[in-house]
Amino acid sequence: MSTNKLKIIPLGGVGEIGKNMTAIEYGRNILIIDAGVMFPEHDMLGIDLVIPDYAHYLKDKKDWVRGIVVTHGHEDHIGALPFLLSEVDAPVYATGLTAGLVELKLQRRGLTGQVSLKIIKPNDQVTVGGLFEVEFFHACHSIPDAVGVAIRTPAGLIVHTGDFKFDYTPAWGDPPDFGALARFGHEGVLALLSDSTNADNPGFTPSEKTVDEGLNKVFREAQGRIILATFGSLVSRVQQIINAAHRHGRVVAIDGRSLEENVERARSLGYLDVPPGVLVELSKLKGRPDHQIAIIATGSQGEPGAALSRMSSGRHRQITIKKGDTVVMSSRVIPGNEQIVGRAIHIRFQQGARVIYGKTGNVHVSGHASQEELKLLLSLVKPRYFIPVHGELRHLHAHAELACAQGIPDDHIFVVENGQVIEFDEAGARQTDRIPGGWVFVDGSSVGDTGPVVLRDREILSQDGFVVALVRRDEKTGELLRQPHIITRGFIFVKENLDMIERAEAVVREAVLNNRKDPQTAIRKALSEMLYNETHRRPMVLPVVVED
Ligand SMILES: [Zn+2]
Ligand SMILES: [Zn+2]
Repeated sequence: MSTNKLKIIPLGGVGEIGKNMTAIEYGRNILIIDAGVMFPEHDMLGIDLVIPDYAHYLKDKKDWVRGIVVTHGHEDHIGALPFLLSEVDAPVYATGLTAGLVELKLQRRGLTGQVSLKIIKPNDQVTVGGLFEVEFFHACHSIPDAVGVAIRTPAGLIVHTGDFKFDYTPAWGDPPDFGALARFGHEGVLALLSDSTNADNPGFTPSEKTVDEGLNKVFREAQGRIILATFGSLVSRVQQIINAAHRHGRVVAIDGRSLEENVERARSLGYLDVPPGVLVELSKLKGRPDHQIAIIATGSQGEPGAALSRMSSGRHRQITIKKGDTVVMSSRVIPGNEQIVGRAIHIRFQQGARVIYGKTGNVHVSGHASQEELKLLLSLVKPRYFIPVHGELRHLHAHAELACAQGIPDDHIFVVENGQVIEFDEAGARQTDRIPGGWVFVDGSSVGDTGPVVLRDREILSQDGFVVALVRRDEKTGELLRQPHIITRGFIFVKENLDMIERAEAVVREAVLNNRKDPQTAIRKALSEMLYNETHRRPMVLPVVVED
């Protein structure tokens, strides 16, 4: 090994679900694996997307990036590519479907033609930047054409699983490539980065095939229309729905533009098999009997703007949920959204629809490996060092425990958060500096080509959370049109601190009325001071002043 050190830096997706991104650095060379987004929490007002904070890390190193490897086409792996690629000039390596979905993204942001997209297949080996030997291997997940990567570096072999499950009867393609994994293990793996999403889930994740049975049952029993909510990128699920509909003599209409575009792209690339006449336009459903109709819609998380919510609330132009409909929620509920989804389900029950969701309906299975599969992977790959990725801290810790039980010493396991540098040399491996990181919020209307508009300091957020002070005032008189409203996250439990919230609202009111010229600064100052005096903590204060 030369004097250069190998560095692995998870830039996103550790300590959280979403916005996965990892950098591998050796000498003046960087290889990036995935660049995804996270969907904003429900109280991040006006925020469309959250992307990884790669800006700090890449500040002086943009021209070190030799390539970007993308494991599969899910948003949490490709969503940030348009932003990254408007700053970094490097080829993107991806399989056919993944590349197709990336291209669609680049088109939407007006970046087509500016990016070199290199299409690879499982088992391909490419040399990136004259240094990294990257080998792709087939992986089973909830989208076709997913891969993991093995990267040979001067310091040793790194294996990154991407998202995976060990599915012996996948909805698309072959079972997992156990041969390749065993081969890496035999060759000797310096470090393994592995999907931790279901690391706290005992046993095996059921096969995608079980969803076929669940969907068949739904299609067999439903008398009226069937409306299925899922994620746009769950291409395999869309295939399963189309198959079930075809089998039971129903047509399928797709609602939601991005969903429609993804399906069209997957179909034109040969990853979706649609029998003639099965897909019809939503507007062509009129006059067709209910028992011949299936609709795939967005909104599996109860998002207010999505098709399914509009259908339930009568805000949808063509479809309103009615008695006799069967509503199928065929995707995972993102942690944190349970309440909203629960409420949405409740509304649909009230409207007389039959609602089928979760494990009980057999209409969704996870695309991620459970404990037994993770153990099997560890025993095949036999890494010297282990870095659990793709999960909240509790998932990463659960995964670390599994690795420990399989004989990987504690000090060879790195449970880290975004931006933590892990360094490898002949003396071993260790955590070194932590690159300051944050959440980069993207406000769709103002991003365009300029890139991320708002940067938040992660340290403050992770320690003390944040407080939003919402104020509406009259444009001319400056009078308040409403009581100021306080929203907090990661700071205090609101229900137990209603008195303090009231005092905070009073402070904001005062600040606005006394500082008509610059209410933002006044709010920030007064509220920070008051909150610190009462709690001895310093949450980030975000004043939002709306003028009417
Ligand atoms: Zn995925
Ligand atoms: Zn993922």
